[in-house]
Amino acid sequence: MAVLSTREKLAILSDAAKYDASCASSGAAARDSRRSGGIGSTEGMGICHSYAPDGRCISLLKVLLTNFCIYDCSYCINRSSSNVRRARFSVDEIVRLTMDFYKRNYIEGLFLSSGVVRSPDETMGEMVEVARRLREEENFAGYIHLKTIPECSGDLLEAAGKFADRLSINVELPTDEGVRRFAPEKRPETIRLSMAALRAKIEEKSEPTLKTGKRERFATGGQSTQMIVGADATPDAGILRTSARLYGSYRLRRVYYSAFSPIPDASSALPLKKPPLMREHRLYQADWLMRFYGFAEHEILDGRADGMLDLEIDPKLAWALRHRAMFPIDVNRADREALLRVPGLGAKVVARMIETRRHRKLRLEDVARLCHSIGKVRPFIVAEGWSPGGLTDHQALREKMVSCEQLSLF
Ligand code: SF4
Repeated sequence: MAVLSTREKLAILSDAAKYDASCASSGAAARDSRRSGGIGSTEGMGICHSYAPDGRCISLLKVLLTNFCIYDCSYCINRSSSNVRRARFSVDEIVRLTMDFYKRNYIEGLFLSSGVVRSPDETMGEMVEVARRLREEENFAGYIHLKTIPECSGDLLEAAGKFADRLSINVELPTDEGVRRFAPEKRPETIRLSMAALRAKIEEKSEPTLKTGKRERFATGGQSTQMIVGADATPDAGILRTSARLYGSYRLRRVYYSAFSPIPDASSALPLKKPPLMREHRLYQADWLMRFYGFAEHEILDGRADGMLDLEIDPKLAWALRHRAMFPIDVNRADREALLRVPGLGAKVVARMIETRRHRKLRLEDVARLCHSIGKVRPFIVAEGWSPGGLTDHQALREKMVSCEQLSLF
């Protein structure tokens, strides 16, 4: 095999990492080099741009340790039977690259994943060694996200949590049946056991120790996972059901949805076309409704026989249009939970409305000043001097709302 330069390896292994969506750095506790005497910080602006839920843009060196893999997951470009060009970084090379990029201010952190070489423990051991050296030898205080290998030992998982801000374990597909069909060497039960072990460790380490009275630093950004959407026939309702179970059972910070990308020489069981990117976007919006807007997973798609999210309008608006009898809502009397169900009203807007109405009655103009698109809100609220009349139940409301959504994109 030809000897590759670092640049060539980087081209291959960063390209191979692009299929992983789960690299946002949200939720990590700050590391600050001013205290450690090292360099870097997890705060502030940062080759892969990710967006945290608060909208902050972060840049990460997102790369694989290697794209060699002993497994043969049909949906993956790096599977053992794939014809791709292969490369492998040494621990030393990844450490050097990260530090060089960091010092040049190209990145704020590292997102490291890998194909499985020789054994899960051997691969995971190298990933942990990268993180250890960055922290202990280079005094690196930037963000580190390690994609862990479910079959690795508990000791390695523990060591990974000591050095990384976030750990993730991919559930791969929304159903166990899908995993067995497309990733036959992976065991859904093992994936779940690893997630449970990680949850237990995170919780254990969040308690102050008896000896020092302080908490040990352990994966402060929590754990996350990723699901591939559109590789199998699972409808959005099934995907959201799985997400709700994962959030509830393993206290995940995030579930990431990655639209399936057709790959060369793929199995005939896989679709030839990628699902619309809008589907991924709508799933994120629905996920948001479950986490921050008080929606139960089964509510989001109730009344939709196909179990799919509407691609034309956002899931909250789609829900409101199917439940018009619950509207309009009086913005001067309704509680926070009811206000959060109004299309176009986000959590921050609702907080400001509640604050404002302590002093005076809210008029439509007040709501318009606070929210992004009053056209979307208007049919669903009553305010001082405003009632939507027959607008809430108007037959053509959905069409009006579709054009309202499309206009707001420009
Ligand atoms: S184990 Fe990971 S890298 Fe290897 S084929 Fe499966 S998905 Fe791809």
